[in-house]
Amino acid sequence: MEVNGKTAVCGLIGCPVAHTLSPVIHNRLSELTGKNLVYVPFPVEEGQVGQAVSGAWALGICGLNVTVPHKSTVIPYLTGTDTLAGRIGAVNTLVRAADGYFGYNTDMPGLLRALQSEGIALRDEELVILGAGGAARAVAYLAASENAGRVYILNRTPAKAEAIAAEVNQSFGKETVIPMLITDYPKLSGRKYLVIQATSVGLAPKDQDVVIEDASFYQMVSYGFDLIYRPAQTRFMKLAVEAGAPVCNGLKMLLYQGIIAYELWNDIHVTQEQAELVYQAVCESM
Ligand code: NDP
Repeated sequence: MEVNGKTAVCGLIGCPVAHTLSPVIHNRLSELTGKNLVYVPFPVEEGQVGQAVSGAWALGICGLNVTVPHKSTVIPYLTGTDTLAGRIGAVNTLVRAADGYFGYNTDMPGLLRALQSEGIALRDEELVILGAGGAARAVAYLAASENAGRVYILNRTPAKAEAIAAEVNQSFGKETVIPMLITDYPKLSGRKYLVIQATSVGLAPKDQDVVIEDASFYQMVSYGFDLIYRPAQTRFMKLAVEAGAPVCNGLKMLLYQGIIAYELWNDIHVTQEQAELVYQAVCESM
């Protein structure tokens, strides 16, 4: 695309941002939709997020994505947040409004759209979430808000799983989320579950690591969704496939969180055909 005097700028703030795939998503979307908009990563150190937000505002930047370590610390610098971002306490998208930036969380709607694109609905689905970090917490909120069935959250540090379960159950006024120690997985009933792998175990370069190795666990997997996308096939996914389950990595979640942000910035709807072309570009750039 040609950058000219009318080119709008969006970007990503976080640290590190050097290996982000988001410019591929957004710049391809601009090509496909004909928007005169470029997307660039901005490395912003911890403690600098307030200055980054006011600087972006002064520069006329029309939208920002926010990644680690600023997803929560950015909130005080915004004019407000949507209900989901407020509930989760994490923002990943800033939309320019008349008097500042308004914060959204598109990670979870992104995961929801990724699951839908795989033909999975969460309603009444029994889930196992592996991990109890920031991503797992958001998945637990999403599952409760989509009226999933029971949601077992399994973690190495049980106190973190217990805290998420207590918080989500209180927030929704129902006992949906059940915390467990990860090594207690044999206590699961033996039925099939949608399993969301939300630990950082298996991330490249340690791509042979997996949080549960035991083949009998994978017999309980109806669908294995790993939030990790580097490597494209994690050991968790390989073990689930060996047990006969369909699998997906986290690339589609990344894709759709970006697409939803782009829709918010431009007030447009990205078609499924366009989404598929962007997915192709992201896969090629991996
Ligand atoms: P956190 O650091 O907040 O949480 C990490 C989780 O992994 C914790 O539950 C931690 O357990 C567990 N864990 C780490 N090491 C081990 C280990 N050796 N054995 C057992 N458990 C372990 O990370 P996030 O929640 O932010 O991210 C989790 C994953 O999700 C990452 O791989 C990230 O790349 C991916 N992600 C993907 C996204 C996408 O768009 N596809 C978006 C966001 C995240 P404990 O509590 O015991 O320390």
